[in-house]
Amino acid sequence: MSVFNFNAGPSVLPVEVTEGMARAILEFGEKKLSILELSHRSEEINAFIQESRQMVRDLLELPEHYEVLFLSGGSTTQFALIPMNYLPANGVAGYIDTGTWSTKAIDAARCYGEVDVAASSEDDEFRHIPKDYRYDPEWSYIYCCSNNTIAGTQMHAYPKTDVPVVLDMCSDIFSRKMDATKFSVIFASAQKNLGPAGTTVVILDKRQLGKVKRAIPDMLNYQKHIAKNSVLNTPPVLPIYGCYLMLKWLKKKGIDQIEKENNEKAALLYQEIDANPLFKGRAAKEDRSIMNVCFDIIDEKLESSFHTFAANYDIFGIAGHRSVGGYRASLYNAMSKEGPERLVKAMQDFAWRFG
Ligand code: PMP
Repeated sequence: MSVFNFNAGPSVLPVEVTEGMARAILEFGEKKLSILELSHRSEEINAFIQESRQMVRDLLELPEHYEVLFLSGGSTTQFALIPMNYLPANGVAGYIDTGTWSTKAIDAARCYGEVDVAASSEDDEFRHIPKDYRYDPEWSYIYCCSNNTIAGTQMHAYPKTDVPVVLDMCSDIFSRKMDATKFSVIFASAQKNLGPAGTTVVILDKRQLGKVKRAIPDMLNYQKHIAKNSVLNTPPVLPIYGCYLMLKWLKKKGIDQIEKENNEKAALLYQEIDANPLFKGRAAKEDRSIMNVCFDIIDEKLESSFHTFAANYDIFGIAGHRSVGGYRASLYNAMSKEGPERLVKAMQDFAWRFG
């Protein structure tokens, strides 16, 4: 490894995933063509798309009434597809506003129906997860963002309600064990925990579909994608192949082990942030994310110095999101423990030099 890549997404991938994709670009399947040259209807391509859907089922232990799709358009497209497919024109959906990505989802939903903001932490610059939200049994669904990639907060408990729950897991899917049956929709763009950019996994309880009356064009209609086994049109074949390799890697390792390592990686870094006199954490302690560790330097004049200092330790991609600044170390599934260990060392040496 040349550098430790802390980017928030696209982000670090296991070497076997990038190497496997590179090999497939050169030669794939019995015909020895590039994966880029093969028809999406060919047996070789369809086999790994269907196997990837099955691996998601296995990892999340999904019952029969769930479907798994690999769609294009990123999670941002799902912000619109969810209300289009689940929110009737005269309906109301509850949204918990925990930062940029749920705010964008709220804006998209308002194009299709009424949004009731059940709770928001905007007045606190989204540094915590609201815990005291309301439920209305009339809502078509309640929407939440599991991990707030920019604010560095994460839900450590989800709504407990009979209202269908929709969950954006873009930045924490497969990072810890979960009971997927508590959710009607889970979605995640691949480029953080699941593979390269270009595809989004969408997990749906199909019993909740077909309740809205509006006309939905096929490409935006979950039921049409389900009917075509996730190959309604030409899918993003190479990104899905990247997910296929990553899913194999995840299965081999096991979610229990991944969760253990993710907790250890985050604990290492948060411990240093709390102990080091030059730095401070951004998110409320009880809501800290184990995926995106956001922190600031107390003396702002030193901010750019730490970027230069850290680069000498082969640390790459720790700038905070452009809307908030500071630092953000993303510790996704493929980040090894050596990454946060190296960052801790850089922070300690920096404090020794400038503290
Ligand atoms: N939700 C969350 C939590 C995200 O972090 C992001 C992107 N960083 C998105 C949604 C949007 O994803 P995309 O860029 O794939 O549309």
